[in-house]
Amino acid sequence: MHKTIIIGGGLAGSLTAIYLARRGYEVHVIEKRGDPLQDLSSYVDLVSSRAIGVSMTVRGIKAVLDAGIPRQELDECGEKIVGMAFSVGGKYRVRELTPLEDLYPLSLNRAAFQRLLNKHAYLNKVNYYFEHKCLDVDLENKSILVQDKEGETRRIQGDLIIGADGAHSAVRQSMQSAMRRFEFQQTFFRHGYKTLVLPDAQALGFRKDLLYFFGMDSGGLFAGRAATIPDGSISFAICLPFTGPLSLVTQDKKVMADFFSRYFPSLSASVRQEMLEQFIEKPSNDLINVRSSTFHYKSNALLLGDAAHATAPFLGQGMNMALEDAYIFASLLDTHKNALEKVLPEFTKQRKVQADAMQDMARANYDVLSSSNPIFFMRARYTRYMHKKLPSIYPPDMAEKLYFTSAPYDELQKIQKKQNVWYKLGRVN
Ligand SMILES: Cc1cc2nc3c(=O)[nH]c(=O)nc-3n(C[C@H](O)[C@H](O)[C@H](O)COP(=O)(O)OP(=O)(O)OC[C@H]3O[C@@H](n4cnc5c(N)ncnc54)[C@H](O)[C@@H]3O)c2cc1C
Repeated sequence: MHKTIIIGGGLAGSLTAIYLARRGYEVHVIEKRGDPLQDLSSYVDLVSSRAIGVSMTVRGIKAVLDAGIPRQELDECGEKIVGMAFSVGGKYRVRELTPLEDLYPLSLNRAAFQRLLNKHAYLNKVNYYFEHKCLDVDLENKSILVQDKEGETRRIQGDLIIGADGAHSAVRQSMQSAMRRFEFQQTFFRHGYKTLVLPDAQALGFRKDLLYFFGMDSGGLFAGRAATIPDGSISFAICLPFTGPLSLVTQDKKVMADFFSRYFPSLSASVRQEMLEQFIEKPSNDLINVRSSTFHYKSNALLLGDAAHATAPFLGQGMNMALEDAYIFASLLDTHKNALEKVLPEFTKQRKVQADAMQDMARANYDVLSSSNPIFFMRARYTRYMHKKLPSIYPPDMAEKLYFTSAPYDELQKIQKKQNVWYKLGRVN
């Protein structure tokens, strides 16, 4: 039985832990935050405005169910999503999505989902070390140096090290220094974000089964997304540039009041005032893409989730891909009968292609949003019309496949590229 040390007990780390424990592995998870089943405070970070709601598409749902987590328990963490609403000039254009499989995407309460994973990890006898920070990784000897909350340090030895420690991964940093020709790229977007939360979505007229998008009519200045989670609250990710007359660091209340009046005219003046106060108070967050040339080191260490391929949320797929990583890793263990020397290179081979495709699509979506104009809507209508008329030659709507299937990202990217050719032919570009 391999003793596996997972650095990072977030979403990817905890789901991977469950998969491994169910296969008889001895699993130890090192997590710098506290135990979410005891105290959620470090997971619901309202002040530094981390994203509170997160959308789980069918590929994420399948990965969770395949780990033995009952569907009803997962459904309780989220609201079912049946479509998207785009705000233009204060009016919403709703686009209902047609499910291609029997599963609907969910707008998840991230903290509730984290607790669900932790609950099932415990049931499967995963060992957690909360408030323990990984300081250093010795990839050759498969050991890590950890520090507990009292400041005491010690080394832990395993047979396999898994880095599920997010965008600023310590495991990835060790790979950078230990490996020859390790390529690494970190890109910051011109935009960053703040998350604003309002307690009662329904009272404000928002439907809980829609994902809302804002800023399509801002000429690329502003992109916003909002979703309701089961406690009834709605969280808005407000993406703006870091510089310029209207930016994430703007403290001028008049400028920001005009911004909220322009893009949220259907909300009352007092609600907009509440959003303005939160905006001024909260710190801004970066949006980042991370790419590494490999996700493994010999048969000693593996990167999963954001540690391998952190992606700005312009396609809403970072978590979904992270969860799918756990599922693919477990499937490869089964296929290769736990032979890590085969599983780890195969993981890199399969997932690198998918991660690159997903990041490229997210970047392309950002480019559309940040130079945004009515073409977006024309394209969506054109795609639907053409696919209906010419189903055998015109590719289907990519968004529907993205939300409702677990089709590989590189296939979706091919659809996107084909559609771009058709947009040229149809002069909607
Ligand atoms: C604004 C925003 C909106 C998003 N919306 C969506 C969405 O709608 N859908 C979607 O699929 N994705 C979305 N994402 C992306 C998603 O949040 C991430 O892809 C996902 O959280 C990745 O999970 P992870 O477990 O790999 O990493 P993380 O969630 O970052 O977890 C890493 C864990 O490792 C721990 N850790 C880090 N370093 C150490 C250390 N040295 N020692 C011990 N522990 C450590 C951390 O405390 C954390 O618990 C969004 C992201 C942002 C920023």
